[in-house]
Amino acid sequence: MDQYEKMEHRFIDCYRKYRNHSVMVLLGFYKGQYHKFLLSTFFFVIKHAPSLFAALLTANVINGAIAGGEEGKRQILLNVAVWIGLLAVHLPANWLHNKYKNQVIRKTEAGLRGALVRKLQELSIPYHTQIQSGRLQSKIIRDVEAVETLSSQLFVNLMNILMNLVITLGITAVKNRSVLLFFLLVAPVTAVTVVAFRKRIHSENRAFRREMEETSARVMEMVELVPVTRAHALEKQEVDKIKEQLEETADKGYRLDMVQAHFGAVSWCVFQVFQALCLGFSGYMAWKGSIKIGDVTFYQASFTTVVNQFAGLINLLPILTKGLESVSSIGEVLISDDVEHNEGKRELNQLKGRFRFQNVAFSYKGSNEPVLSGIDLEVKEGETIALVGESGSGKTTILNLLIGFITPGGGRLSIDGTDISEINLRSYRRFISVVPQTPILFTGTVRENITYGLTNVSDEEVNHAVEAANLKSVIAKLPNGLNTMIGEHGANLSGGQRQRISIARAIIRDPRVIILDEATSALDTISEKEIQDALNELIKGRTTFIVAHRLSTVRGADRIVVLDQGKIREEGSYQTLMELKGEFYEMERLQMALR
Ligand code: ADP
Repeated sequence: MDQYEKMEHRFIDCYRKYRNHSVMVLLGFYKGQYHKFLLSTFFFVIKHAPSLFAALLTANVINGAIAGGEEGKRQILLNVAVWIGLLAVHLPANWLHNKYKNQVIRKTEAGLRGALVRKLQELSIPYHTQIQSGRLQSKIIRDVEAVETLSSQLFVNLMNILMNLVITLGITAVKNRSVLLFFLLVAPVTAVTVVAFRKRIHSENRAFRREMEETSARVMEMVELVPVTRAHALEKQEVDKIKEQLEETADKGYRLDMVQAHFGAVSWCVFQVFQALCLGFSGYMAWKGSIKIGDVTFYQASFTTVVNQFAGLINLLPILTKGLESVSSIGEVLISDDVEHNEGKRELNQLKGRFRFQNVAFSYKGSNEPVLSGIDLEVKEGETIALVGESGSGKTTILNLLIGFITPGGGRLSIDGTDISEINLRSYRRFISVVPQTPILFTGTVRENITYGLTNVSDEEVNHAVEAANLKSVIAKLPNGLNTMIGEHGANLSGGQRQRISIARAIIRDPRVIILDEATSALDTISEKEIQDALNELIKGRTTFIVAHRLSTVRGADRIVVLDQGKIREEGSYQTLMELKGEFYEMERLQMALR
């Protein structure tokens, strides 16, 4: 188990255990590393010693000056020396404090991102189809960052606050109990202020986070759509659409800012009133002679420290709410169990390529309408099945069932005689190749794109795939041959070329089963012939399912399955179906007429 996998399991455990307690989940993130926080805290106290004792040292110097004489002088010198001594250790202590703290926080940040990325690879294809990629990106980048900020702030600020409070209240308790009681009045006032605002800040935060995710998703979609938008001259409409979203986000952000600012101002005012009262109180005590005059500055400075700590506590609330919101946002993905379960299922060491659909039905989540129903089909080893039918008749859904992206809602689908639900799909997929309708290429060389996921591939094997996929002449023309870089999504290649790379990728895996969604894009006759030759090479001797759009493919298939509204209407060889003069015959006549 690698480091990220371990972290992923720990995070998921935390989420499951403390579902509604984000703070506990956050604490759980750092399990096993608490000792580093302790070390960091230790150096933090040392680092802050000069400011912690500043008020006391100042009061001592003033009292020394008022007392006068040799004793007074000694007191002044001693206190200044102590102050400078404390400052000398500040730099090394600061370095050590930050070292331990940041090591832990950065490691957890990377761990969270790693866990999310791993989870994305496990989540089902329908999950990915539903959730916009921008939304996921926002979680991986923005939410993890918010958790990091929260941890860092929480740790440093809380520590600072606690330390300041303990030391200041401690010294005050020793010096004068009645002043201490006055100081402690601040606590309930803080609590009341926080309670008054907490709910609003929380709900505004959630609204803003959701809006940000939506924006991220929309912008990603817009960018992907740019060529289509440009081609239809719809730039302005697209910008307007995003503008609306941006305004909505700005509005939510504004509301959040305002409630936070109002909250800040209210608490500031409350504390200032207290501070004025404190000055009056200690002034009166000095006037009465119960405390020394120098101590008035000490109590005033100490009270300012106490008030600042409570104000700091209050200021943590927005960061806390935002960070904890992000903790639950990340949790939404991490605890989703919409994943493929392969553990303990039967591993396939070989695949013959026999398939059997028995009364298979399927409907998409959230819809009662069956997309497929009563599908019965038996496919022998090495057979080529062409799936034809109008758009929306269920062809792609059948391919997705075959790949195991979705599972039958009713009936049974078996592979080599075993129910697909009992098979470890990862082991099954080693023996299949999928050629999607739109070839998916990544930034990398042509060779890397062809050998995707394979290691130790010989040049001979690559050359064979290139030849079989009819790519030889294309590659000869590229500046660096097989080592030419392909832009994102294969931007510098033609549609036909991209598809042939996709076919070469399928050939090199030497699969037992091919699942192929033919591109519908209009190709010129030469490209079509080249692709057809490549396809013929690919499907030789392997069980093949093709969503067929081209006449030549349909004719070459062993069997044609005609789908209509999720049901099989006709089935048979090209010859049989043409003689039947049914639905397929009509479709073919129409297509030929259009040619
Ligand atoms: P074809 O490949 O024949 O064009 P599909 O198998 O893609 O047809 O779609 C069959 C039906 O299922 C269509 O009516 C389509 O609207 C619906 N459908 C496809 N994908 C989804 C989805 N992810 N969620 C809901 N309905 C879907």
